[in-house]
Amino acid sequence: MSARVLDGKRIRDEILAELRGRVADLAAEQRPPGLAVILVGNDPASEIYVRNKVRACAELGIYSEKLTPRASICTEDLLGIIEGLNQRPEIDGILLQRPLPKQIDTRRTVVAISADKDVDGFHPLNVGNLVEGFPGPRACTPAGILELLKRYGIAIAGRHAVVVGRSDIVGKPMAIMLLHENATVTICHSRTTNLAEECRRADILVAAIGRAAFIGRGHIKPGATVIDVGMNRISDPREVERIYGAGSDKLEQLAQKGSVLLGDVHPLQVAEVAGAYTPAPGGVGPLTIAMLMSNTVAAAERKLLKSPSPVAC
Ligand code: NDP
Repeated sequence: MSARVLDGKRIRDEILAELRGRVADLAAEQRPPGLAVILVGNDPASEIYVRNKVRACAELGIYSEKLTPRASICTEDLLGIIEGLNQRPEIDGILLQRPLPKQIDTRRTVVAISADKDVDGFHPLNVGNLVEGFPGPRACTPAGILELLKRYGIAIAGRHAVVVGRSDIVGKPMAIMLLHENATVTICHSRTTNLAEECRRADILVAAIGRAAFIGRGHIKPGATVIDVGMNRISDPREVERIYGAGSDKLEQLAQKGSVLLGDVHPLQVAEVAGAYTPAPGGVGPLTIAMLMSNTVAAAERKLLKSPSPVAC
């Protein structure tokens, strides 16, 4: 039996459709939610992500504002921009697009964004809320993955989940969210010995590593659900041929576009072994944006409504 493809775009559309009415209600009663996106410098991938976020806001009726400080900005000046946005009442959410230039002290920016406007869920107060199970914005990528699992009816409680990657933005919050859903959770990282063996114990395997097609047949338990967070841009034709095989239309895509986008999971091998999996692209990425919109609407509701809806996720 072939593996089931978990369509992130379909779930994104469902989530956005549910948000549309809430945005319209806020706009009718008070004002639309407002999101400020800060993009430092000109990283091409970040520019695409920010464009998609701004477009999603426009489609939903959320007011958005893009700030583009120069790549050489110092931490103090960036903190000044954040503080200005913290003070503005019509801005409900502030998103600082990563990665940031090397001279920026990322940790200081994380605590500078007001916890109320932290639509990424990265502020230590909100991380604490997640760990304690209190309401509050949740990190968008793992929150989106949880939505996907639930909406596809994939059981989590009592199952073994393995998360590969322990970053603050994906791996750690993902592991905690799965724990709250009563999975038995293993977190793996670059110092894990016997990674493939650990991964093969997973009923739910989440790969958030940043290495193209790294998770292959030997890492996947037959029938497992595999979630591919990775977004890796490959421009070497030999690498594309090694992964997809000679004659693949991906080589044509590479010739046309100059690169091919690939997840952390081998796209052909996962389809052979897994029970269900997210494609990359088209799996986790769209969910991240949907949850950013959800966090923004929830932040506006908390501020504007007397009895706000419970925080999503
Ligand atoms: P980080 O680089 O912050 O973290 C990568 C993690 O993978 C680290 O914990 C690292 O371990 C681990 N790792 C690296 N190499 C290995 C290895 N050989 N074996 C086991 N573990 C390893 O990345 P992010 O979490 O920010 O992102 C991960 C991927 O997800 C990237 O491709 C990124 O582009 C993508 N991404 C996609 C999003 C989406 O919306 N689809 C959103 C966010 C990220 P250690 O801690 O020991 O170094």
